[in-house]
Amino acid sequence: MSKTPVVRRMNADDAGFTAELDQLLSWESVSDAEVNQRVVDIIAQVRSLGDAAVLDFTRQFDGVEVDSFGQLELPQARLQQALENIEDDQRAALQTAAERIRRYHEHQRQDSWRYTDPDGTMLGQQVSAIDRAGIYVPGGKATYPSSVLMNAIPAKVAGVAEIIMVVPTPKGEINEMVLAAAAIAGVDRVFTIGGAQAVAALAYGTESVPAVDKIVGPGNIYVATAKQLVFGRVGIDMIAGPSEILVVCDGQTDPDWIAMDLFSQAEHDQDAQSILLSPDAEFLDKVQASIERLLPTLEREDIARVSMAERGALIQVRDLDHAVEVANRIAPEHLELSVADPEALLPRIRHAGAIFMGRYTAEALGDYCAGPNHVLPTSGTARFFSPLGVYDFQKRSSIIFCTPEGASELGKVASVLARGESLTAHAKSAEYRIIKD
Ligand code: NAD
Repeated sequence: MSKTPVVRRMNADDAGFTAELDQLLSWESVSDAEVNQRVVDIIAQVRSLGDAAVLDFTRQFDGVEVDSFGQLELPQARLQQALENIEDDQRAALQTAAERIRRYHEHQRQDSWRYTDPDGTMLGQQVSAIDRAGIYVPGGKATYPSSVLMNAIPAKVAGVAEIIMVVPTPKGEINEMVLAAAAIAGVDRVFTIGGAQAVAALAYGTESVPAVDKIVGPGNIYVATAKQLVFGRVGIDMIAGPSEILVVCDGQTDPDWIAMDLFSQAEHDQDAQSILLSPDAEFLDKVQASIERLLPTLEREDIARVSMAERGALIQVRDLDHAVEVANRIAPEHLELSVADPEALLPRIRHAGAIFMGRYTAEALGDYCAGPNHVLPTSGTARFFSPLGVYDFQKRSSIIFCTPEGASELGKVASVLARGESLTAHAKSAEYRIIKD
């Protein structure tokens, strides 16, 4: 009796490949009607009952038993305490990561600009930070100190005046590294709430939680659905689905390395997706053997096994050009170019959240400390979304200044266009400023 393979094999030259790939990639993250209805209800409750509703949901979903909402906010002194409580090597690692993330994101800051026409008309763009940002740090099944840094530091670099963090603490278990990261990143207020109720509280405000201007950060389907539903009331960064990795390998990297890189997504979530593209069939066999041998060594073997079996794939392509074509079609969140000359492929990669260049650049390094953000577009949305960045916390205002001469010249053009739209006040407002000979 043959054993069920731990991961599916595909060939990109097969007739049915495109349909098979579409099927593999399909992920209806925010169209689940039941989840949608539940989140609509949660948001409505939080809007009408404020703190009391959030407290209720926090008891219900996170099993947190507190007497009053006030206990769900952690004072700054508690964050500083956490910074002291953690091990020295943990503090040093967080500080190194924070420094590298800050340095990288400082390159992203957008500046205001202006130019002047010959008649003195000045045009420009003024960039300003949003006033108050809400950062969602997931915490249902695992804790993510790195996500605190990745969300809060770009906001700080942008000059956001107040950063409000929410993080669920199932059964009231508070992760010291998460709080220490909040202290290092300069988060202003921390509430131990999560899920759709936390997103609703940030969007609409409650007696205790201040309403923010934008909500960023990853989360599960309840969080993603809630963000989508409050969009418009507040800004959001993106709608994140389960994590994904796509590895393109020329067949010359250690197969164990590739297997472990695939697991680094698979261990996140049963719905996470890990795919390998290679022109070398024998290499795919070797990676498959490594997967089978190494899966039992993982602490989260059960999760990774389901993810590899349900959503993983080892795909044979004709050559690396063909791999690039398939990669662009997938538009992955993380793309590892585990090849001898990644620079040769890079200019042709059009859709990917983050690109990891060469055999030594494991995605895990980018996840924690290289510098670029780990909050990235998933589910093919790298076609139109970018990584979370400083620009997500900045907005732009247009600037126009006219001299009398400039207003006169523009007035002639505006008058004609306004009359064409039958907007008399617009036309006259412009015509008043035309200099009469
Ligand atoms: P989470 O904080 O997103 O969700 C936990 C909350 O979900 C709970 O507080 C609860 O309010 C709500 N919830 C759970 N079950 C519910 C139910 N039945 N009804 C209503 N609400 C319910 O934490 P999580 O669940 O661990 O998910 C985190 C997600 O974020 C994972 O998918 C993980 O892969 C992803 N993640 C992504 C990144 C990234 O940068 N892309 C980083 C870290 C985590």
